[in-house]
Amino acid sequence: MLSVQKFGGSSVANVDRIQKVAERVSRTVERGHRVVAVVSAMGDTTDELIDLLAQVTDRPPDREYDVLVSTGEIVSAALLACALRTRGHNAVSMTGPQIGIHTDGVYRKAKIVKIRADRIREALDAGCVVTVAGFQGINEAGEITTLGRGGSDTTAVALAVALEADVCEIFTDVEGVFSADPRLVPRARKIPRIAYDEMLELATAGARVMQSRAVEFGAKFGVRIHVRSSFSEGEGTMIENVETNGWGEAGMERVFIRGVAHDANQAKITVAGVPDKPGVAATLFGALADERINVDVIVQSATAVDKNDISFTVNRDDLDRAIEISKSASEELGGGEVTADENIAKVSIVGIAMAQHAGVAATMFRTLASHGINIQMISTSEIRISVIVERSQMEEAVRALHSAFGLDAPEGA
Ligand code: ADP
Ligand code: ASP
Ligand code: MG
Repeated sequence: MLSVQKFGGSSVANVDRIQKVAERVSRTVERGHRVVAVVSAMGDTTDELIDLLAQVTDRPPDREYDVLVSTGEIVSAALLACALRTRGHNAVSMTGPQIGIHTDGVYRKAKIVKIRADRIREALDAGCVVTVAGFQGINEAGEITTLGRGGSDTTAVALAVALEADVCEIFTDVEGVFSADPRLVPRARKIPRIAYDEMLELATAGARVMQSRAVEFGAKFGVRIHVRSSFSEGEGTMIENVETNGWGEAGMERVFIRGVAHDANQAKITVAGVPDKPGVAATLFGALADERINVDVIVQSATAVDKNDISFTVNRDDLDRAIEISKSASEELGGGEVTADENIAKVSIVGIAMAQHAGVAATMFRTLASHGINIQMISTSEIRISVIVERSQMEEAVRALHSAFGLDAPEGA
């Protein structure tokens, strides 16, 4: 039996916690499993490294950004290997490049293209526990790349695929995947089993408990992913192929909505007064795509005869570059001013069964209206509806929707 176990930042936040992780890995080894333990950087190390860089330069080269932030996970991997060795295990730490996690050339959000994993296999065959620095790989030019925030989840699931592991466990600081972020919604419920599609939409909508890339990998290769707490022993959430017929676990009530997600890490850009003619959106969004900037919600509105305003949201980390690109695209197109608004957030409801049920959107909009929350933009997929609202109203919106769709756990549960 081979287990890939991933421990997130809060699970390895200090030496005591690393010792606890070592104990847990030891217990798994003692049950006769072979273990690959993927670790994140300790606590808020990644944010601290990014802050350090900002103190040195406004415009860090992407290559140096990746070299710097990849160091956080290397520290955790080496410390965990040493903690395991003091417990009598033969343990060895490895970085992404040492393992052979090959990525494309896009720094900061590289995609894994191939994993060689020979060294890991050899180490496992030699009876070692392998601790792995998550979140990183190597590109064709031999440079270090990182996999985007939350990328250690993807390292773990991708390794589970490459090594044909029996289980991939994601240990984190909550008991599993909940119907909303339990830190925002105290009455959120733990979801025992969730389909890949629903988890993917929740993750894409901002539920950062799993990186969306990791869920995509899991779905593509059918890896069952167990998200669970590193601080307790209880069962968490299984992400797997779940047949959903729209009825809840007890079969008593219709479950249209599986969860509510929020994303406060978005910003809105508006390009005013662009000509209303073919090719305008293609030029603007083509230029952004060329720079690998993901655009999320888009709205186009006619403001005068032959003129449109185009508004769209991007990840806050990409905002400065997106503004620059939008300004030069607007100039090229004969458009007007480019403005940005960081005071926004995205709130989404997700559920496979909503596709078969009319009125979900209406309930969502009515609920927000009754709380005086203005909707700035809307986007939908078959199993998700997202709205952009003012940042200060995000929490109220999440709680109100959670109640309105009957997701609140009973009082005192
Ligand atoms: P790790 O460091 O273990 O990777 P993260 O901070 O990346 O942990 O993810 C865990 C956090 O995700 C939780 O602390 C919780 O606040 C947040 N979260 C957001 N949405 C959800 C959700 N639907 N279910 C569980 N946790 C969620
Ligand atoms: N340390 C990285 C981050 O904070 C990767 C991870 O934790 O998964 O985003
Ligand atoms: Mg994470």
